[in-house]
Amino acid sequence: MYIISSKNMLLKAQTHGYAVPAFNIHNLETMQVVVETAAEMRSPVILAGTPGTYHYAGIGNVIAIASDLAKLWDLPLAVHLDHHETLDDIRLKVQAGIRSVMIDGSHFPFEENVAIVQQVVALSHRYDASVEAELGRLGGVEDDLVVDAKDALYTHPDQAREFVERTGIDSLAVAIGTAHGLYHAEPKLDFERLAAIRHCVDVPLVLHGASGLPDADIRRAISLGVCKVNVATELKIAFADALKHYLQDHPTANDPRHYMQPAKAAMKEVVRKVIHVCGCEGQL
Ligand SMILES: [Zn+2]
Repeated sequence: MYIISSKNMLLKAQTHGYAVPAFNIHNLETMQVVVETAAEMRSPVILAGTPGTYHYAGIGNVIAIASDLAKLWDLPLAVHLDHHETLDDIRLKVQAGIRSVMIDGSHFPFEENVAIVQQVVALSHRYDASVEAELGRLGGVEDDLVVDAKDALYTHPDQAREFVERTGIDSLAVAIGTAHGLYHAEPKLDFERLAAIRHCVDVPLVLHGASGLPDADIRRAISLGVCKVNVATELKIAFADALKHYLQDHPTANDPRHYMQPAKAAMKEVVRKVIHVCGCEGQL
C-alpha cells in the first residue's frame, strides 16, 4: 500500500529532529511537482487538501493520482485531510482510502473540540489513519474560514496536555502566532510558548501557516518540537505568477503541456526550498 498514515513519518521526524512538509495540492500538475521533487530529494512528504480541494478535484481522482505517483517514484505518500470539520466528511474519505486526517474543531469551545476529536480518533484509528487536531486559533484565511488576527487565541500548554491525553490524537497543531495566507506584518512567533507546549505534550507538533515565515523561524520551531510544516499559499503564488507571466509573454499559447511547464518549475523551487529548510532531505 503506497498511501500511508503520517503517524510513523512524524514520529521518525521527532526522533531525528527534522520536520515533514505538508504541501497543499490542487490538481495533477501540483501533485506531480511535489512528488517528483520529494523523490529526487529522497524526502518524506505529505500531500494535503482542504475540503474545498477534494470537492474541486474529486476524492477518487486525488487518491488515484497519488497512488500512481507513489508507485512511479517508489515513494509511499501520506495523503492528508487538511482542516476537515465533520465526522461524516472524514468517514467518507477514510473509507475511500485516505490514511491521514486533520479534524479542525479549534473554533469550538474546548469541551466540544475534545468531543468531536474523540469521535474522529475512534473512527480513524480503526482504519490505521493518523489524526491531527488543533487547539487555539490561527489568524488568516483557510478556505472561507476567516479569523480576525487580533482574536486569534494561542494554544495554552496545560490545556494542550489535557487535550492530547483525552483525545488520543497522533499530532497537535499549535497556535503560536502564525497565520494562514501571507503575512501583512513581520510575524512574531511565541517560541517560549512552543517550548512550554513541548514540555507538556509528547506527540509531534504541527505548524500551520508557514508561507512567508523566515527560514530561521521555521528552523527554530523545528528545534522546539515541530515535526510537520504546512505550506499552501507560497506554492499557489509561485505557480500562478509563472503561469501569468508565460501567458503574457506568449499570448497565442494554448497547449497545457507547454504553458504549465514554467508554472511547475516555479512551484518546484518553493518545494525544494521548504524541504531544505525542514531538514528532511535524504530522510526516506
Ligand atoms: Zn492550516
